[in-house]
Amino acid sequence: MQTSAAQTTSPLLEVSNMVKRYGEVKALNGVSLDLKEGEIISVLGPSGCGKSTLLQLVAGLAQPDEGEIRLLGQKIASSTKMVPPEKRGVNMVFQDYALWPHMNVYDNVAYGLKQKRLGTDAIRKKVQEALELLHLEGFEHRLPPQLSGGQQQRVAIARALVTEPRLMLLDEPLSNLDMRLRIEMRSEMAVLFRRLKMSVFHVTHDPEEAFAMADRLLIMRSGAIDQFASPIECYNRPASRQAASLLGAINHLSGEFVAAPEGLALKTPAGILHGVHCEPENAPRAGMAGEVRFRPEALTVFSVPTANESQMVNSHDLPNHSLLEARVIHCTFEGSNWRSLLECGEGSRLYMLSGEPLQPGASVSLRLPREAALLYAT
Ligand code: ADP
Ligand code: MG
Repeated sequence: MQTSAAQTTSPLLEVSNMVKRYGEVKALNGVSLDLKEGEIISVLGPSGCGKSTLLQLVAGLAQPDEGEIRLLGQKIASSTKMVPPEKRGVNMVFQDYALWPHMNVYDNVAYGLKQKRLGTDAIRKKVQEALELLHLEGFEHRLPPQLSGGQQQRVAIARALVTEPRLMLLDEPLSNLDMRLRIEMRSEMAVLFRRLKMSVFHVTHDPEEAFAMADRLLIMRSGAIDQFASPIECYNRPASRQAASLLGAINHLSGEFVAAPEGLALKTPAGILHGVHCEPENAPRAGMAGEVRFRPEALTVFSVPTANESQMVNSHDLPNHSLLEARVIHCTFEGSNWRSLLECGEGSRLYMLSGEPLQPGASVSLRLPREAALLYAT
């Protein structure tokens, strides 16, 4: 997925030990990262974790209290230095688009080029190109209030693209669009930015949007970095319970670590669950308290087999799986799946997805692959 440029050149953006305080609140608490030329980084985290603050510091809309920011090796921000936003070569697209309502589409897109004092012909050519890229031909004379949300968002992106920024900053660019349009736009943006080899620093609270866009994912929590890795690595091995939950592993059971033939397992009210440990720097030992997290889609019903099949499945399949006993509480149709709420042990609740409905009240055996059971010390 990464472009070759992203692998060979030195960082375009370097953020070191960034601290930003708002009164008592530490919005950022020692954030360091690098973004390579041509790379798309998506910053993912819950509301209030400092995502917008990080973007604003890079854009030059706020000043750091500690640490520094470099663009192509040049220091652009620290507690004593502040290169103004327009001299940084970065452009930002905001959640609310921030278009000028009294200017038509053409003038909105042309604005940055006029500021740069380009000639009328050069401006017209660049604006036309940008409008074509965003499928906005024919809308030149419309005012923003005469456009749909999706069209306004396209204008905001065209306006940011047209000045050819070294770095594009996107703060929750699709949050104001309805779901269908969000899904469409996130693929279109990913394709467009890769085609133009743009360097993009993109903030979202939507994991699917982050996965659709990112070469690397930066997961934040309470003003600090939880994980900074490829989307696949984050998905398979979330570095914390919170990151796991953010990335869809909403099922959780508490228990105690026990020694198992193939590493550690967690003894929970639903049975002994074999899993993978995800925090290298925080290795648990038998006897310690822990938590297992897994996604609803990781569970499958283990249908009650005949005696012969049972033996075959046990010997062949179970080393890489665990079994959980649970009772079905509720089952609803979601279109492509059935989603069931189950209870296991003493009141622990689990969700699972299945192609067939489960009968409320029924007792079921569920199968959980070892690879999908994420173990954390607590
Ligand atoms: P996110 O974008 O991840 O939702 P923000 O970066 O907007 O989070 O905010 C991080 C924290 O900093 C929050 O607690 C927020 O209330 C606080 N904060 C952000 N901007 C300001 C500001 N201008 N003044 C005071 N507090 C702020
Ligand atoms: Mg924000």
